Amino acid sequence: MNTVEKYKEYVNTSMVKAIEPVVIERAKGAIIYSEDGKEYIDCFSGISVVNAGHCNEEVLKAAKEQMEKLVHACTYVYYIKPVADLAEKLAQITPGRLKKTFFANSGAEANEAAMRAAKQFTGRYEFIALQCSFHGRSVGTLSITGNMARKKGGGPYLSGTAFSPAPYCYRCSFGLSYPNCELRCAKFLEDIIRFHTSGNVAAFFAEPVMGEGGIIVPPPEYFKVVKEILDRYGILFVADEVQSGFGRTGKLFAIEYYDVEPDELTMAKGIADGFPLGAFIAREEVANSFKPGDHLSTFGGNPVSCAAAIANIDFIIKNDICFQVVEKGKWFMEKLIELKQEFKIIGDVRGKGLMIGLELVKDDKKTPAAEEADMLRNLCREKGILVGLGGVNGNVIRIQPPLIISKDQLDYAFNVIKENISKIEKAN
Ligand code: PMP
Repeated sequence: MNTVEKYKEYVNTSMVKAIEPVVIERAKGAIIYSEDGKEYIDCFSGISVVNAGHCNEEVLKAAKEQMEKLVHACTYVYYIKPVADLAEKLAQITPGRLKKTFFANSGAEANEAAMRAAKQFTGRYEFIALQCSFHGRSVGTLSITGNMARKKGGGPYLSGTAFSPAPYCYRCSFGLSYPNCELRCAKFLEDIIRFHTSGNVAAFFAEPVMGEGGIIVPPPEYFKVVKEILDRYGILFVADEVQSGFGRTGKLFAIEYYDVEPDELTMAKGIADGFPLGAFIAREEVANSFKPGDHLSTFGGNPVSCAAAIANIDFIIKNDICFQVVEKGKWFMEKLIELKQEFKIIGDVRGKGLMIGLELVKDDKKTPAAEEADMLRNLCREKGILVGLGGVNGNVIRIQPPLIISKDQLDYAFNVIKENISKIEKAN
């Protein structure tokens, strides 16, 4: 049996709509090489993970050196150097007073732990999150996920969760337009607290830039308004930077654009350039709400992943990757915005840095063009460009390449996208 046949026989993919028909053999930088000798420009980074590029030499070197010394002992049973070094580094690079890190394996596990810390710190048990949000696939994190398509069939979820309207300007819940809206969606959070909870809200979870929901970028003043409301009600603010962190948006953490201080910040994906690791960092008093015996993760903070994470963060900082991301992202977005003038099917272009979304619509009423988005993804793949798909309506093309992607590679990707959008629009 070949790889595809074995997948079909033995790998449980029954939950996946369609696996991209590419058998990946290896990858380097922004290029993925398939078993049948094809090359692809990776514009999705394995769902926004390999920020420093596939098989980054410096990350590999650090991981290999650590692997020769120690692969596992358990972060919460013994003292391990790369764990301590990474925790110190995270305290240095995250905003505000965030200081103590709990290490896990994934974004969902980090968010679960962050939920628990918020409950224990506040003594409250309810949560508020955003419509369209995504926070993971465990029961707790799905409960605070506002992207209903991801929750279908999985209930019942935790009670005590409420959702505030997403800062999704292209499809504003109130039918308003920024800036005349006066940030109605942010202010509405107070109504949610007062009329949709019993007043026992521990934390408000939000992605500073929403990923799975379709690359939704809140207006610049959004989190300031939200934080002011949260502070009045003594509710913690948890920034889920699982997807937006580690340079993806042109800042180390996307919340830096909004100049507010989260009480907890969760991370995974881009933290270790592909090595599995999740974490949440909190203000010291919040972190200390865990009491002995409360929490643990056997593999969480694996030494090899931690060593890889340190090298990854050093690589991003040393090479001024954030600056490059801003520059490349702006240039690429401008090209896409020009393209939008040409093709009606492009309803919206939005993003920050190299976290870019292209929302496709069928008509002036903004009817989501999900089949067309799927078609575009397939056509791009056939021409050697791998892009992602997302959005609450499944009609957003996601462009989230490794941050080290070259302008030439981006330019090539742009031309392939343009050519295929033209094809799809003509066919319609
Ligand atoms: N939070 C956000 C914002 C995410 O995008 C994701 C994954 N797409 C998660 C949490 C869950 O991460 P994981 O798949 O590592 O559990």
